[in-house]
Amino acid sequence: MPRPIEALIHTDALAHNLRRARAAAPDAKVWAVVKANAYGHGIERAYAGLAGADGFALLDLAEAERVRALGWRGPVLLLEGCFEARDLETCSRLDLWHAVHHEAQIDWLAAHKTNRPMRVFLKLNSGMNRLGFRPAAFRAAWQRLSGLTQVDEITLMTHFADADGAAGIAEAVAVFERATEDLPGERSLANSAATLRFAPSETTVRADWVRPGIMVYGSSPDFPAQSAAGWGLRPAMTLRARLIGTQDLQPGDAVGYGSSFRAAAPMRIGVVACGYADGYPRVAPTGTPVLVDGVRTRTVGRVSMDMITVDLGPVPGAAVGSEVTLWGEGPDGASLAIDEVAASAGTVGYELMCALAPRVPTRVA
Ligand SMILES: *Cc1c(COP(=O)(O)O)cnc(C)c1O
Repeated sequence: MPRPIEALIHTDALAHNLRRARAAAPDAKVWAVVKANAYGHGIERAYAGLAGADGFALLDLAEAERVRALGWRGPVLLLEGCFEARDLETCSRLDLWHAVHHEAQIDWLAAHKTNRPMRVFLKLNSGMNRLGFRPAAFRAAWQRLSGLTQVDEITLMTHFADADGAAGIAEAVAVFERATEDLPGERSLANSAATLRFAPSETTVRADWVRPGIMVYGSSPDFPAQSAAGWGLRPAMTLRARLIGTQDLQPGDAVGYGSSFRAAAPMRIGVVACGYADGYPRVAPTGTPVLVDGVRTRTVGRVSMDMITVDLGPVPGAAVGSEVTLWGEGPDGASLAIDEVAASAGTVGYELMCALAPRVPTRVA
């Protein structure tokens, strides 16, 4: 028998979450963001669930190639654009749309030999200060691009720094509106947080194309302010394993490397076939939530490479072979939000799903 751990990718949940994005921005077209191998879910595995999108947005040319290999003929957008001039050959060959966020990318386009003009997304730096032209340089970049025979339509794009937080997007939206005033073309502004929190009320935000990523995978962009379930999202990934051992502890007995946990009273613990080499966060402390046979309990002691240990107090019937849900859907309708595990480990659901290790057998459910 293989080691008892597996990940499930839930096609129905992906499709449901994508519909949720559409419902939030009913007039907009929807990019399903599938960078980082569909946030760890696997582009090929996520494809069936996301095939209702209007396009796929990603960063890596090899990933764009994989989306085309799946038979997708619709729009594919490179969110960071080209990394060097010859990437434009790939864009022409695969008919990729691409972001333009610095001058050299315009130089490369001007020198690119093609008889098929390309669709570009001109990116404004609206305050995040990662990628994009500053407002003062935006119009000149637009003018340069619009003068090129290599360029077809220009979509105006920005990315929010604070869509998930208290600061919100008002300032960035104002910067965007000033910088793009009277420029023609479609607009694309919103990630998941902006789509869920602001698209229902803000026309500018839902304009033309929204770009939801994390929400389609069923994690909340602004946890703990709002949970995924509270946003009407369903987990697209389950990580589950089984108990491969149990121990009965006496008061004072220690657990795991560093003996970081000691039993205060007699207790039973279970040993789970999942560790940091599977993508479970090593920094998750004692007390991180976990389900055993669908019953919520907690981890105890340090996460090691191949195992974690859990408190079986709330699950007296648990034994070797019992099902352990690290995150996602458990038995009998139980579930554990990836965001809760992430918060306990001091990180976000994004990081846990992206870190699912290649050694974990993964199947589409
Ligand atoms: C990753 C990314 C998104 C999606 O962000 P989520 O927070 O996962 O919804 C949208 N736009 C750009 C430019 C991105 O890089």
